[in-house]
Amino acid sequence: MEFEYTTPQLNELSQEDCDRYWITYAMTLANKAEQADEVPVGAVLVLDNEIIGEGYNLVINEHDPCAHAEIMALRHGGKRIENYRLLDAILYVTLEPCCMCAGAIIHSRIKRVVYGASDLKTGAAGSAFSLLQDSKHNHQVEVTSGILASECAHQISAFFKKRRAQKKALKQRE
Ligand SMILES: [Zn+2]
Repeated sequence: MEFEYTTPQLNELSQEDCDRYWITYAMTLANKAEQADEVPVGAVLVLDNEIIGEGYNLVINEHDPCAHAEIMALRHGGKRIENYRLLDAILYVTLEPCCMCAGAIIHSRIKRVVYGASDLKTGAAGSAFSLLQDSKHNHQVEVTSGILASECAHQISAFFKKRRAQKKALKQRE
């Protein structure tokens, strides 16, 4: 008899376990942003449990105010499937999308957005604005929030804490 090792099948997991899996993956992308001295936010675009796009915040490195993780993942996905409509795809992002990204998400026609930490200052999925949920759009996106929220929030707050400490150390040396 042939023995075949199979990894846990994502499509056998519950939706919540799947969401946690992909948010964890997005957190590894956020780490890459941090390694590039950017605020650590990561996003992965998934279609039928397969990655079609991924990205992380690169605004400073790219000299691009639009280079948010979500935009990078959507662009990557569009190129990958050669379509500007990303029907049925799910976008996982570690931080609640801003207004710009909410607009791009609507234009992309993705099915669902899942995010980790809320962004009380600029979040456009219910925190500061409810753009994603606005019924005036001609496309409605499902929104799931709070998946691994504290882990995602900690990733970002730890980054700022570290940066403040570095600035302080620099000042003391001067
Ligand atoms: Zn954004």
